[in-house]
Amino acid sequence: MQVRVEGIVIRSMDYGEGNKIVTLLTDTHGKAGVIIRGAKKIKSRHGSLSQLFTQGEYLFYRNSGLGTLTHGEIIESHHVLREQLDMTAYASYAAELVDRALQEEDASAFMYEQLKACLHAFEEGKDLMITTQLFEMKVLQAAGYGPDFNACVSCGNTVGPMSLSAQGGGVLCSRCAYKDAQAYPLSESALKLLRLFQQMDLRRLGNIQVKDETKQQLKGAMRLLMDMHIGIPLKSRSFLDQLDKYSI
Ligand SMILES: [Zn+2]
Repeated sequence: MQVRVEGIVIRSMDYGEGNKIVTLLTDTHGKAGVIIRGAKKIKSRHGSLSQLFTQGEYLFYRNSGLGTLTHGEIIESHHVLREQLDMTAYASYAAELVDRALQEEDASAFMYEQLKACLHAFEEGKDLMITTQLFEMKVLQAAGYGPDFNACVSCGNTVGPMSLSAQGGGVLCSRCAYKDAQAYPLSESALKLLRLFQQMDLRRLGNIQVKDETKQQLKGAMRLLMDMHIGIPLKSRSFLDQLDKYSI
């Protein structure tokens, strides 16, 4: 069967003599594995279609399992994302997250649009950390773990300071915080941003200025949620952490 999709390369690996197998997040077919024959040959027309982060139109033939590329056109090569170390680190994390944390049925057209917008935001110089945290939220929601930040998950209280309870799937007010020993206290600005992330479509992300302190707090909060619900060690995340350590 011939399949035509728009897709973004979220994984690319060598396969046999000069070939590559890529995993695409597509607009209509979830995640799709495609063999690109001769991709590693210098003169290959298909070489750049196999590079990580490339967005393109892919035409492939598939019976079951892996497809075989017959034709492709690049829409955006995203080469900047492969050239600048910090962008590469963040984009690799976003791609690996989709590859490993999203089940096939969660890899929707909406998630395709979110990844596309995430890579664009990186390239346009939007805050790398905030963009990533917003993207993490979209992945959590797609995977069915979208937390509730609007009211205390235990008593419904909406006022006063709140702590994040990853196991409770949302926030706990100060009266109920004792119910989760790991509850993570949130500042008012961190809570506001988490509520915003919950509602926001990544395509609408503008340039937001966030204090370093708040960013670090958001990082801690998102980390707690990701570890609780996704819980897969990602290679790209340890690289991000190292990068973060040296840039502060
Ligand atoms: Zn409460």
